[in-house]
Amino acid sequence: MWLVVTSMYAYEALPVAEWFRRNRELAGFHNPTRALYQTIRELTENSLDATETYGILPTIYLRVNIEDEQKGWVSVYAEDNGIGIPGNEIPNVFGRVFYSSKYKIKQHRGVFGLGLKMVVLYSQSTTNKPVLVRSATLKSDKIYEYQIMIDTNSNSPIILDRREYPNRYKWHGTAVKVYLEGNWLAAKKRIEDYLKRTAIIAPYAEIVFKGPDLELWLKRRTTKLPPAPKEGLPHPKSVDVDTLKQMIQESRGLTLLEFLMENFDAVGEGTAKAFLEWAGFNPNAKVTALTPEELVKLVDKMKQYEGWRRPRSDWLSPAGAELLEIGAKAILGAEAVFAITRKPESYGGHPFIVEAAVAWGGQIPPVDKPLLLRYANKIPLLYDEGADVARKVVDEFNWQNYKVKFPAPLAVIIHVCSTKIPYASAGKEAIAEVPEIEKEMKLALRDAAKKLRLYLSRKEKEMEMLNKYISLAKYVEEIAYNLSMITRIEKESLAKNLHTLIERKIGLTIEELVKHTLSMSSTSQEEVVEATPQ
Ligand code: ADP
Ligand code: MG
Repeated sequence: MWLVVTSMYAYEALPVAEWFRRNRELAGFHNPTRALYQTIRELTENSLDATETYGILPTIYLRVNIEDEQKGWVSVYAEDNGIGIPGNEIPNVFGRVFYSSKYKIKQHRGVFGLGLKMVVLYSQSTTNKPVLVRSATLKSDKIYEYQIMIDTNSNSPIILDRREYPNRYKWHGTAVKVYLEGNWLAAKKRIEDYLKRTAIIAPYAEIVFKGPDLELWLKRRTTKLPPAPKEGLPHPKSVDVDTLKQMIQESRGLTLLEFLMENFDAVGEGTAKAFLEWAGFNPNAKVTALTPEELVKLVDKMKQYEGWRRPRSDWLSPAGAELLEIGAKAILGAEAVFAITRKPESYGGHPFIVEAAVAWGGQIPPVDKPLLLRYANKIPLLYDEGADVARKVVDEFNWQNYKVKFPAPLAVIIHVCSTKIPYASAGKEAIAEVPEIEKEMKLALRDAAKKLRLYLSRKEKEMEMLNKYISLAKYVEEIAYNLSMITRIEKESLAKNLHTLIERKIGLTIEELVKHTLSMSSTSQEEVVEATPQ
């Protein structure tokens, strides 16, 4: 794999790994702060992919150590209980750019086969140290250990050391250690946010982090995993000419009709025939005989045709409302969370699902505009919030219609999952303004906010009622006095009976009632009537 660059007189080819080393900010490795954050991200996401996608409850240990304060060197260690990497694949997985097991149409956190290699490239270009890897696959009777660097000229691994151990305790998983130039103090807050936000969307994961002055133990809050995504075929609307050419090369001389039916999602005989007739192609022509012009026409027509069925969405793995509610309650300490998973939709042939949650009260501090937690394929997005369509949707949302008056203790979660997330920039930190996605975000937010409105109005009514009782309680002594004048029954016993009557009605003693009202008022938007019972 070579990219060709030209200067005025000399021509040369730039090896792909070398190109990435030089343009590392494209993958999030701008400087020692971003690079440390990105390293944690890549390793955590690989660990989550290697566990939850295969029905394993993730347990992930992460550690950052300061290795050389003067030079600004740190080490990052990550260990998981995932499916592991076969011994013979370890060198390529760590040492060859664009090497991945995830080039499938299925939702993963990783997609490019690039993450680990960027970690290794950044690490070796700043400290010149190899990456240390230990891994065992499920049921493997051996544990493999490697020290690897990347030869950037040939885009291939250099193996500095290789060992094998008997796997006595049937361990499975992967452990990675890298040394890099990293600014722990500057990255600390982002890393903490990233891990907590990961725990919100993956409350079934146990994540333990130890840094120089930060320890996090994000406990597993549920043993329920979201259903694993299935693997799929491309939708006819989603392919470009290059992809189509590649598919044709592997097509073993099929006819156009057979080719469409075999290689595309949701295309049966009827659909394929109807399309070919509409597009003016002979269904029995050999697909390998298409001219370049015909190929371009075929792709165009495939994009234009309105008769396809929707892309299937079982390749997608949304978190689900239940998990979002568990995660947000636990990590944000919210009083109430309302989450919504919308139905699958698609843009340009790519299926997607939007989820939204609103979290209210509890430990969420009152803010002038909602705190926004953005996610793409379960990955928290922390940078470039201003460029994200989700921020726009949340800011333009008419909160007043939903009984929310700012400042309010409100956080909003928006998650988009798709086999192709339309990122706004190469840094993959913000989602672009795709109309179909924007619309779904609005609808998801509306659905979640409706539930919040219901909750807030119930709370308001409850408060009104309680306030009425409190006001009444204030007059108990006076009423009892007047009653006793008329009835000649002892005032104390009348007052006691009246108090008991009120307490029975609301199931709280007057003291408890006041406490309860005060605690509710700290998160309620309504004024509380000052209560001073005798
Ligand atoms: P990507 O995640 O985009 O596929 P990476 O370079 O991050 O690219 O990883 C390359 C491949 O290495 C993955 O596709 C996966 O097969 C394997 N891999 C990486 N980390 C792990 C891990 N912790 N456990 C199991 N396999 C892993
Ligand atoms: Mg990855």
